[in-house]
Amino acid sequence: MRSELYIDGKWTAASDGKTFEVVNPATEEVIHRISAATAKDVDSAVKAARRAFDRDGWPKLTGAQRARYLRAIAAGIRARQAEIARLEVLDNGKPLPEADWDIADAAGCFDFYAGLAEQLDNDPEEAIALADDRFTSKAVREPIGVAGAIIPWNYPLLMASWKVAPALAAGCTVVLKPAEVTSLTALELAAIADEIGLPPGVLNIVPGAGSVAGQAIIDHSQVDKLAFTGSGPVGSKIMAAAARDIKRVSLELGGKSPFVVFDDADIEKAVEWILFGIFWNQGQVCSATSRVLVQDGIYGALLKRLIEEANKIRIGDGLDEGVLLGPLVSKRQYEQVVAAIDAANSAGATVACGGTRPEGFDRGYYLRPTVLTDVPLDSAAWVEEIFGPVVCVRPFKTEEEAVALANDTRFGLAAAVMSRDDTRAERVAKAFRAGIVWINCSQPTFTEAPWGGYKESGIGRELGRWGLNNYLETKQITKYMSEDPWGWYIK
Ligand code: NAP
Ligand code: MG
Repeated sequence: MRSELYIDGKWTAASDGKTFEVVNPATEEVIHRISAATAKDVDSAVKAARRAFDRDGWPKLTGAQRARYLRAIAAGIRARQAEIARLEVLDNGKPLPEADWDIADAAGCFDFYAGLAEQLDNDPEEAIALADDRFTSKAVREPIGVAGAIIPWNYPLLMASWKVAPALAAGCTVVLKPAEVTSLTALELAAIADEIGLPPGVLNIVPGAGSVAGQAIIDHSQVDKLAFTGSGPVGSKIMAAAARDIKRVSLELGGKSPFVVFDDADIEKAVEWILFGIFWNQGQVCSATSRVLVQDGIYGALLKRLIEEANKIRIGDGLDEGVLLGPLVSKRQYEQVVAAIDAANSAGATVACGGTRPEGFDRGYYLRPTVLTDVPLDSAAWVEEIFGPVVCVRPFKTEEEAVALANDTRFGLAAAVMSRDDTRAERVAKAFRAGIVWINCSQPTFTEAPWGGYKESGIGRELGRWGLNNYLETKQITKYMSEDPWGWYIK
């Protein structure tokens, strides 16, 4: 386990020598300590990234040259996949097969953006047809500069990869701050970058508190672009900081995503996807489908099966074989989710299952899969993101009612619909005001497809070619081709 900051290609302790604890959420034990970056350390990281961008030539490499580094990082992740997945479980609590999946996806993300970096050398978006044939014009895409990336704790290495891979592919240099509660695997990414010889300053990793290291990144005048995933309130702070000197900004914030199940759906398949949509990663997923709307013809039968299956989910230490639900990530998150369930109860909701610690666990931030019914539409449980294994289930009568309920939220990250009627499913998919829509499933995520939200769920899109655009400026280069003088002033 690494314990230092990675700045300008070197491992270094924090300038004030302070560290923070790494806690295993399954045991509540302190398993490690990591240096906590200060504003001074962040300044060193930004200056290194600045130099790597402005003078050392990272953006001047061809896309193909940068792609070689990205593919080497992907290979480095794969070579140590089992070890990194285990670290992710120790830090975040998620079941090992989920961590394994995340790490494989992280490697895949670097390979994918290597491919897009190569394409930048022959940019298909370059040629512009002008109406005036005395001129030719092309649009070239160039890296924005130094990117400051701030990420949450739910998919630690994967969220780092979603930002670092497209940024490096585009030719940006990066200062990344992982979440304090899960910094271990971001440091492994730095170690891999170091091993494969990524030039110093191109990628800097500065673990530390959001209020210190994070704030120092967003306030730094030499950072050109901010990329953030996390909560709405911090997202607002980031936009406000970006506004001061017009930094580019992309935000991926939370949601309260609906899952609409029509009564022609297969109940068993619907239950499977509802479980996946809310209990995967202990429900700590920005796109979790946390509001399930079920047409009244199958509401009772579906709810019964959902509760039966939720009660069967095997809970335990993410490293134990067969576990499907690990502990929540931290004491703070656990207490917040328990408080949200208590508040729902007080507001009149019924806790149809779960809502308590599982029996036999006296340590670890464990919570049973929780199904809430009769949740008032104006209660926090229906309106606010809970970010835990808690789903609200509610009946509806008509398609119009379902769509209206689904869209009645200030968020718009994801939405899902299940029906055997393709025409209806397509119609509802179009009616959802959300950036990611799943038909007959919930949560499958692909590096090739755009990811991001409408409304308060964010700005911009990650992943796919859209994710690369987050780190690129567009420049037009227009050339006068005629031998004749222009003839406006000098006739
Ligand atoms: P958060 O406070 O938004 O944290 C996200 C990241 O921002 C962390 O790295 C955090 O650092 C950093 N940060 C905090 N304050 C900052 C500041 N003033 N300037 C710059 N960076 C700052 O989210 P959280 O506390 O981890 O979780 C709170 C809630 O956010 C969750 O309950 C959930 O609703 C939502 N959330 C959403 C997502 C998502 O994928 N959309 C992911 C995680 C959480 P430190 O945490 O290290 O201090
Ligand atoms: Mg931890």
